[in-house]
Amino acid sequence: MIDFEIAREKMVQEQLRSRSISDGRVLEVFRKVPRHLFVSDKYRSQAYADHPLPIGEGQTISQPYIVAFMTESLSLHGKERVLEIGTGSGYQAAILAELCKEVYTVERTASLAESARRTLNETGYKNVEIGVCDGTLGWKERAPFDRIIVTAGAPHLPPSLMVQLADSGRLVIPVGGERSQVLTLFEKNGADITTSELCGCVFVPLIGKDGWKE
Ligand code: SAH
Repeated sequence: MIDFEIAREKMVQEQLRSRSISDGRVLEVFRKVPRHLFVSDKYRSQAYADHPLPIGEGQTISQPYIVAFMTESLSLHGKERVLEIGTGSGYQAAILAELCKEVYTVERTASLAESARRTLNETGYKNVEIGVCDGTLGWKERAPFDRIIVTAGAPHLPPSLMVQLADSGRLVIPVGGERSQVLTLFEKNGADITTSELCGCVFVPLIGKDGWKE
């Protein structure tokens, strides 16, 4: 039997710390959140490996490093309301739930949302609300958000997301082609928007009205 706690510590040391994830709160939650419970039995033994894994419906849970890197780029202090687009397995939402006040996460595929809801209930996360809708339009009824994280690759930044981002907010999104993107960070200060390109990445497509077409 695999000792998941040991596997998690090894993941933190070898995949996160060694690649310069340095925010102590971020490292601590990766030691804590049981990633193996967010994948099916078939992939459980690989849950802490250095690569993405299938989660059904042709979708994937990102590699631990990229989840950590995106989380760190949001610079969370604990009081934020965060919107995630692309719930998938619910793992990224659980990580966020440990680091902020409230997580709102939207998923376009109802079966994935249902299974993420079950896992988040079973693992005890109560500050996560899941919506089934097209996240390229954000979640107007719950806006504004202090942080927004998009975990699928977009052709461009959907305008609604910037509208729903609060002042002094940060938004991270993979933008580019269907096969590869650039992880991009937007920071909003009044009317002023700063853009930084963080790194190259590969995500499944963001499909919707302001994303890729099906
Ligand atoms: N964050 C997830 C991984 C996401 S994979 C995790 O931690 O497991 C990307 C997800 O985005 C997929 O589940 C896909 O169905 C979803 N998705 C794609 N386009 C979307 C859209 N317009 N709105 C909401 N979800 C979307």
